[in-house]
Amino acid sequence: MKKALICGISGQDGAYLAQLLLQKAYQVYGTSRDAQISSFSNLSRLNILEAVQLKSMALNDFRSVLQVLKKVEPDEVYNLAGQSSVSLSFEQPVETLESISFGTLNFLEAIRFTEAPIKFYNAGSSECFGDIGGAQAHENTPFRPRSPYAVAKSAAFWQVANYREAYGLFACSGILFNHDSPLRPERFVTQKIISAVCRIAKGSPEKINLGNIDIRRDWGWAPEYVESMYLMLQHDKPDDYVIATGESYSLAEFLDKAFAYFNLNWQDHVLSDAKLLRPTELMVSMGDPSKAKKQLGWKATSKMPDVVRMMIESRL
Ligand code: NDP
Repeated sequence: MKKALICGISGQDGAYLAQLLLQKAYQVYGTSRDAQISSFSNLSRLNILEAVQLKSMALNDFRSVLQVLKKVEPDEVYNLAGQSSVSLSFEQPVETLESISFGTLNFLEAIRFTEAPIKFYNAGSSECFGDIGGAQAHENTPFRPRSPYAVAKSAAFWQVANYREAYGLFACSGILFNHDSPLRPERFVTQKIISAVCRIAKGSPEKINLGNIDIRRDWGWAPEYVESMYLMLQHDKPDDYVIATGESYSLAEFLDKAFAYFNLNWQDHVLSDAKLLRPTELMVSMGDPSKAKKQLGWKATSKMPDVVRMMIESRL
């Protein structure tokens, strides 16, 4: 029986990945900064809380990372933990850099120190590409990060590449574009919209305050995206992969789809709020997932309209 350690198991991707690996008969361990107080509501929602073993681990503390690795002795480590909000990263740049960049480095060092043949997955991000003028980003597109979050993810990406080349670690980065699901917290604009639309459809008079609705994103379905993480670690050699749908839609189109589900017009319910504009914004984001399709056999089947529909239907 293979053992997997998922760091950040309480989050959206952690919960879906745990579900996937349990289905594949893995013994699944997960970490949270404080496993005693975390509610693990996503694991409960997927009905898998009792099936996983939970540990506390502080990513930014090398001793803590090493101790968990030694206790669990995993075959595969998926590091999905760290400050994950682009907006919040402008307010907490140090916390963002420490949790993402030093967290990843601690893992790489700890794996190297134990000399165990552990395979490592790093949660990379499309935010690293920055604005590339509407083209599809691929694995060789240069990084031009435009937020503290993207800077931290870029550093982590290159740490992984360096440990792979320098020390031969089986370490991969998935450069994932935005992916959503019913488990997405309301801090993220997609879930903020979906939950408000569902309340408005029931008669709530509220308005949705939004920042820039002209931004374009490549939105996918989280349960599909976690499959790519697993596939990367099953491949015969470690590498980095762009994971995306290959299609980009504006936030206005997202709103349109969500309100249209209830035959409503989004223009009647949305207000523009300058306070929600970011200091630097990434206008268009779109990925080219052809390498993942060719080498891993992975392809996104759900696109933005499907994601909107499935998020709404899970609330109804
Ligand atoms: P979530 O925010 O849902 O989960 C991340 C987990 O990390 C949390 O459950 C939390 O666990 C832990 N965490 C949060 N803040 C910190 C912090 N400051 N220091 C240490 N740990 C922290 O993220 P997702 O599941 O959506 O994403 C998983 C990974 O993939 C993240 O690294 C994210 O940046 C990356 N990513 C996500 C994309 C997406 O569209 N969802 C796109 C591209 C990359 P706990 O509180 O239990 O410690």
